[in-house]
Amino acid sequence: MSERVAIIGAGPSGIALLHSFQSAANKGQALPEIVCFEKQEDWGGLWNYTWRTGTDEYGELVHGSMYRHLWSNGPKEALEFADYTFEEHFGRSIPSFPPREVLRDYIMGRAEKSNIKGFVRFRTSVRNVAYNEETKKFTVTACNLLNQTNYSEVFDYVVVASGHFSVPNVPRFEGFETFPGRILHSHDYRDASEFTGKDVLVIGTSYSGEDLALQCYKFGAKSVTLSYRTKPTGFKWPDRISEVPLLTRVQNKTAYFKDGSSKEVDAILLCTGYQHSFPFLSNELKLQCQNKLWIPGLYKGVVWTKNPKLLYLGMQDQFYTFNFFDVEAWYARDVVLQRVKLPSKEEMEEDDLLWQQREAKLQTDEEKIYFQGDHVKALLAETDYPDFNVDAINECFVEWEHDKAENILTYRDKAFKSVMTGTVSPVHHTEWLQATDDSKEAFLAN
Ligand code: FAD
Ligand code: NAP
Ligand code: MG
Repeated sequence: MSERVAIIGAGPSGIALLHSFQSAANKGQALPEIVCFEKQEDWGGLWNYTWRTGTDEYGELVHGSMYRHLWSNGPKEALEFADYTFEEHFGRSIPSFPPREVLRDYIMGRAEKSNIKGFVRFRTSVRNVAYNEETKKFTVTACNLLNQTNYSEVFDYVVVASGHFSVPNVPRFEGFETFPGRILHSHDYRDASEFTGKDVLVIGTSYSGEDLALQCYKFGAKSVTLSYRTKPTGFKWPDRISEVPLLTRVQNKTAYFKDGSSKEVDAILLCTGYQHSFPFLSNELKLQCQNKLWIPGLYKGVVWTKNPKLLYLGMQDQFYTFNFFDVEAWYARDVVLQRVKLPSKEEMEEDDLLWQQREAKLQTDEEKIYFQGDHVKALLAETDYPDFNVDAINECFVEWEHDKAENILTYRDKAFKSVMTGTVSPVHHTEWLQATDDSKEAFLAN
């Protein structure tokens, strides 16, 4: 096969695709030539912790948004790979909510076993992708950051796996200029001990807002005021956390809210989400979307309908993560290998529209979970990714939602049953609220 495939990003999604190709090769499939471009010095995407914020040593935007003491916010049983279980990796069953380092270890364990690192060009940032209608090929321009040299190569397929939780969405509120303390976005947040003893204002009530409020609480902030735009979380917050409507303005240290209340604060954390950002793509190839469960313009959530030689991975808002990236990767692989025959453009657009209409009607978290589960099922049916019980994973998520509603401080102490192996996880030796050592050694200690 003389075709060439470019993959942009070696995070969990890009790695899943490399692994899917290798799995096919292990079964005798001839592979196209694959080049995976990764701007970081190592693979793992967001799961690599960095102390850096802003720009890196080469002037590149720092990709990392993860921080110290980040623990999985969903049960690991919901994200387990179907072809590489936690028990296989760790040699035993481990608790359901691991910290970042442990999850990273798991993802990288399969990648190492699959022996796919040779496909990756590290410290290489993709600068531009252009499609030539006549040759039907892409020209990818990349920068070797080590010697600051740009070069271009030609590819038949391009797969964008560059993530979408890295470039922050940073709104401005009136009076920010007068605020004497720190104002930072969650992308630049690294450690809650910076806020010990302080009054903190958190804006945004999705996963980042929720977790940064909890982190500040856990590490001794004097108070956390959580400001919502659309609706309150409704969680039963402990004494030092309170929920208020949206911030209207700031005057020096005083924050004023929509309900007329106000509060003096020392720091402001903007947990206002991220932008899908693809500065390297020309307009006709560029996905322009919000953080949603269904991304308009992507057939099956993967294929760019306007040009099916361009594929995207992991672009959805995520209940499902690692095993979802896998089923997307397997599908993308089979499009490239032409094992999957794509329908006409019109049929792809019709199908895309049906999913969009379905998403627009979703109300509850449970409906959203089942919807993403259906997306996983639709992809799973099309490839030889090992079949797994999606309904059972939906149930994991629903149980997890109920646990959170019951007690936001203890939901990470629960134990779930692996859908892949049937083993019930042990309960962790330390409750999440008391666990201040997030190292792999501490977590795995008996
Ligand atoms: P990323 O992990 O973002 O990887 C993208 C890769 O592309 C990066 O390595 C980046 O360097 C590279 N790249 C980007 N642009 C370029 C370029 N121009 N050239 C070359 N390389 C480029 N998920 C969970 O399942 N559980 C959790 O507990 C969890 N916690 C999270 C906490 C935070 C704070 C955030 C932000 C996300 C969390 N997630 C969690 C979701 C996370 O998005 C996924 O787990 C996963 O990292 C997505 O993988 P990805 O490969 O799609 O993207
Ligand atoms: P997100 O889910 O996209 O949520 C963005 C939030 O910002 C929403 O609450 C939104 O409010 C609010 N917002 C946006 N613009 C605003 C504005 N102008 N003014 C006020 N509020 C505004 O982003 P996220 O919370 O950063 O989560 C991103 C990903 O990181 C998720 O996949 C999550 O699972 C992951 N994560 C995981 C952990 C962990 O503990 N493991 C921690 C953090 C993040 P509306 O609801 O009104 O739209
Ligand atoms: Mg199948």
